[in-house]
Amino acid sequence: MKLESSLKGILMKRVTKNNSVLTIIHVDMDAFFASIEQRDNPYYKGKPVVVGGSPDGRGVVSTASYEAREFGIHSAMPARQAKELCPFAIFIPTNMEKYKEVSNQIREIFKRYTDKIEPISIDEAFLDVMGDNAIEIAKAIKEDVRVEVNLTASVGISYNKFLAKLASDMKKPDGFTVITPEIAKKLLPTLPVRKLWGVGDKTEKELNRLGIFTVRDLLDYDREFLLERWGKRGYELLQFAHGIDNSTVENKQEAKSMGEEITLNKNTKDKEKLAIYIREFSSSLANRLNKKYLKCKTVTIKIKYDNFKLITRSKTLKQPICSCRELYSIGKNILNYRIPMKRPVRLVGMQVSNFIYPHEPVQLTFKDVVEDV
Ligand SMILES: [Mg+2]
Repeated sequence: MKLESSLKGILMKRVTKNNSVLTIIHVDMDAFFASIEQRDNPYYKGKPVVVGGSPDGRGVVSTASYEAREFGIHSAMPARQAKELCPFAIFIPTNMEKYKEVSNQIREIFKRYTDKIEPISIDEAFLDVMGDNAIEIAKAIKEDVRVEVNLTASVGISYNKFLAKLASDMKKPDGFTVITPEIAKKLLPTLPVRKLWGVGDKTEKELNRLGIFTVRDLLDYDREFLLERWGKRGYELLQFAHGIDNSTVENKQEAKSMGEEITLNKNTKDKEKLAIYIREFSSSLANRLNKKYLKCKTVTIKIKYDNFKLITRSKTLKQPICSCRELYSIGKNILNYRIPMKRPVRLVGMQVSNFIYPHEPVQLTFKDVVEDV
């Protein structure tokens, strides 16, 4: 069957070559972890299933089945809260080995149709079909995934990554959505600004405060003001608002490290002040690690003094970590005991590397950090 499908892929490529602008596909598996568990255990089918967290209310929800979502349960919610919302939900521990295996199986299907594949998480990827017929290929991929992996995927097809992802999100589960340039032109202005890439809680609130709620509001707003206020990001926002995204599908290697840094407004020798940044970095790095289901074994602190001299100090641990509490504790320890404060500091940074994959998601909030460290 595999061979047949591969052949199908090759033939398909040959017959569907066209010059359509629709060349990007975004594939997003539906409630991935929960769907795998429901697939593998008939008893779970049609029931509210929660993957991650335990029935006694510890940990966080990794994925909720669609039945569980009806009760308001969603990813990253404390299991305790999920339990309150649906006391008879079935809690299943995460089995990352298994999910990773299914993820690889799906990636093998993608490879039949194109070699331009950019995975963005365990259950999502962008594909560039490079001039082939994206609609036919997206249909074939959905069908292969359904038949061979026995799961459903939602796909979005468009002329760039931003719109393809927007499309796959519009009808879930089992969605198939095409955004042509004509559709984009009509659709985009009606969307809430939140739908534009890079608009999180903070930016959304700021925009709302200016009276900008929809993409149309944004387009009608004083362009100069937006550019002045947000600089490059403001420019990007306006590009997305016009349906423009020039980023390409990259066959990315898994990142080897991730980091955050900031150049201070005012140089300082005060370690307490620097620790505040380490705390912020720990929080965002924990988030980034958890999104990719990674743990790290090495934490590095980077300092640049007012004479532009740079030093880095690292600690490598026996046990991998990923919570902000742990990251902060290690980061602060390096800062306190291994960074000399002989000169004022102008830049502070934090980096994590030496990744272990995969792992179970952990609590992301910062709640218990301050008391603990
Ligand atoms: Mg998904």
